Amino acid sequence: MPIINSKIRYAFGCLIFVVFLVASLVSCINSNNSAENVYRYDSYLKTTPEIRVLLHDNIKEIQIEINKPYSISNFNNHEKLADKAGLKKSVLYLKSGDFRTRSLTSDTAHNAPTTFVKANGNISIFANNGYVKLNNSTYSGKLILIPKDNDKFSILEEIGIEEFLPGVVEGEMPIMWNNDALQAQVIAVRTYVLYKRKIKGNALYHINKLDLAYKGSYMNQSKSKEIVDKTRGTVMVYDWNLFPGYFHSTCGGHTEDINLVFNLRSIPPLSGVECGYCNNSKYYIWKKKLGRNMIQRSLNAAKTKVKKIRKISTEQIGPGGHCSTIKIDHAGGTKRVNANDFRLMIGPNNLRSTSFSIKKSGSSFIFDGSGWGHGVGLCQYGTQNMAKLGFRWFEILRHYYPEIDLVKIY
Ligand SMILES: [Zn+2]
Repeated sequence: MPIINSKIRYAFGCLIFVVFLVASLVSCINSNNSAENVYRYDSYLKTTPEIRVLLHDNIKEIQIEINKPYSISNFNNHEKLADKAGLKKSVLYLKSGDFRTRSLTSDTAHNAPTTFVKANGNISIFANNGYVKLNNSTYSGKLILIPKDNDKFSILEEIGIEEFLPGVVEGEMPIMWNNDALQAQVIAVRTYVLYKRKIKGNALYHINKLDLAYKGSYMNQSKSKEIVDKTRGTVMVYDWNLFPGYFHSTCGGHTEDINLVFNLRSIPPLSGVECGYCNNSKYYIWKKKLGRNMIQRSLNAAKTKVKKIRKISTEQIGPGGHCSTIKIDHAGGTKRVNANDFRLMIGPNNLRSTSFSIKKSGSSFIFDGSGWGHGVGLCQYGTQNMAKLGFRWFEILRHYYPEIDLVKIY
């Protein structure tokens, strides 16, 4: 009996030890995540996702500069069409049709060898470890040229998202802003871009350069790269799904519901919150006087036909004060226009947001407004002020996007 008892005691002791070990491991995992609470995704991606960015659409010709040896390939079957291994610096004139390129080296600028590239379909140009410069922006990714109708073509950049992000952060926020503000911005952009990549699937491109203030992927400052790297692979999810992590300059006091602005499904992270941190922005409150004729001309130029305007009023005002519709009473009747479209037709620098009241003054209209941008998601000026007050990046994100989870997906 004593032998059996000691065996039971031994087995019981082992069981307690295992339970203790498991409990300490669980608490260790939890404590690692306690402050930021970033989960690791079950289907952790093995490689960093690549994205395709539309840089130029429907152009006839463009000059590009490459600082390293480069190659031109058929994008679809990877067949090499030209390999410029010996060149140091080249200027290529890309023309529509057959993508005729004339390569100029710095020594033989006037007797330049000419390369004709005939390709049926898309071709790619890649400078290994170098850059490709076009229209004052510099890119380290692979350029893809897509033939279009009427002898035109478009240019895309294919690049890993982590190499793409520093160029957006530098365009979207002053790099001297607080690290926590910049880190919150990085995650908002990463979430937005990966959401777009997911819904666009195999489309030619996922993001239009015009949608984000993208400064190019090559000339990134080391600070922006460090900031991006700190949260590598981390995105926001709601109900375990990516969502469009919209952001804007200044909300004017309260962010706006996505349904009201973009007519997209409203979810808790994008339905608007009180901000209370952006009142030092230049456009927290603004006033703009615009002539009746100027407004009429701008609307007609955008194919929204109106005659002499009598009255302009706002309709369907959201929790953030932004309106959804603009009603225009004119000599030919009444016209209703989506407020965001109206703002873009009049000029986004004339009307900084869609949160305004309108008064008539003689032959002009006075817009008394607040905020800068569409008002959905993260407010950038509010983010910087929260960071200055000591809020961490994950607290800022949870403030502007309620009910999110943070997940590291690669
Ligand atoms: Zn704000």
